[in-house]
Amino acid sequence: MKLLPLATALCLASPLTFAAPLHVVASFTVLADMAKQIGGADVEVKSLVGPNGDPHSFEPTAQDSRALAKAQVVVINGLGLEGWMDRLVTASGYRGQLTVASQGINQNRMQEEGKTVVDPHAWNSLANGAVYARNIMQALEKADPAHARQYAQRGADYLEKMHALDSWAVKQYQTIPQTKRIVLTSHDAFGYYGKRYGVTFSAPLGLSTESEASAQQVGSLIKELKQRHIKHYFTENQTDPRLVTQIAQASGATPGGELYPEALSTQQGPAGSYLAAFRYNTQKLLASMRE
Ligand SMILES: [Zn+2]
Repeated sequence: MKLLPLATALCLASPLTFAAPLHVVASFTVLADMAKQIGGADVEVKSLVGPNGDPHSFEPTAQDSRALAKAQVVVINGLGLEGWMDRLVTASGYRGQLTVASQGINQNRMQEEGKTVVDPHAWNSLANGAVYARNIMQALEKADPAHARQYAQRGADYLEKMHALDSWAVKQYQTIPQTKRIVLTSHDAFGYYGKRYGVTFSAPLGLSTESEASAQQVGSLIKELKQRHIKHYFTENQTDPRLVTQIAQASGATPGGELYPEALSTQQGPAGSYLAAFRYNTQKLLASMRE
């Protein structure tokens, strides 16, 4: 009788123990982090758009296409955020399903240049973040049922942390008068955040960083800032800060810092995870309102 090599024999005896991690590809860093939190050592996650990268305008490379071709789970935001995704999927030959993390949230619609458009930035409310986490958890369980128990456990722990942070933010904002809860940022990335926590955001750019502000829009925004006595403005880590800086200076507002609305920092930065980014953004916003 011929003996099987040891590794093969062990694999046959216990395939689950030696299973390779599940290949997960996420469109941008926020989703990649959620998949890592829930997937732990059972997954290997690649984010297409990297740290500090803009998820609206992204040019995938051949390497991204190869990563997608090998993926077992692909997580996207949906709601029109990743305009570049369809072409990449076609180019890569990926045939699996796309997990739409935002599935089931209440869509926020806005008027932009006379058209009604869906706001894609749903993750910036932690109540929606919990919906995302559940969708991702289910996708991992389905793709890798052998580790379903681990995904469920890590998912439950993660949801608990989200819930605690959400309650903290709600309580913090309750201590700030409504008239002070007004903020200027680069683009409209905080619509869901604003609804959840009672904050009004103004921005020269619309829902996508790819939009452009007209001279007229800039003029009326400067007027609005003066009228509402907005004292601080915020830049965004993934977007050119020049326009918002120029507008803010014309209105007399001073810089409040940099926010992380749709791209995490590197691990060493202040917003290396979704929850760290949320906490960081909220602390920056609260500090400016308390001045
Ligand atoms: Zn955006």
